[in-house]
Amino acid sequence: MRVKPKLKKDIKKKDKFMPARKKICRFCADKIRGVDYKDVKRLEQFIKERGKLVSARISGNCAKHQRRLVEAVKRARFLSLLPYTRV
Ligand SMILES: [Zn+2]
Repeated sequence: MRVKPKLKKDIKKKDKFMPARKKICRFCADKIRGVDYKDVKRLEQFIKERGKLVSARISGNCAKHQRRLVEAVKRARFLSLLPYTRV
């Protein structure tokens, strides 16, 4: 009987050649200390099409700014500046 190629091994090999791009917190890069809930343009960069928040793991935000971002988005949603959801 023939043995199927090991998938796990192949995936690992592929990962080796993927260059790890360092993500940077965009708030730290722009030297913004607090996150303004009225700054809708900036907040919109961190919400997905359906209105969900983008996780820090994806966006590259640092923990401090991610916490402030979540708070700001919630405030903006309450004031109808940002949507809770989009259909
Ligand atoms: Zn930051």
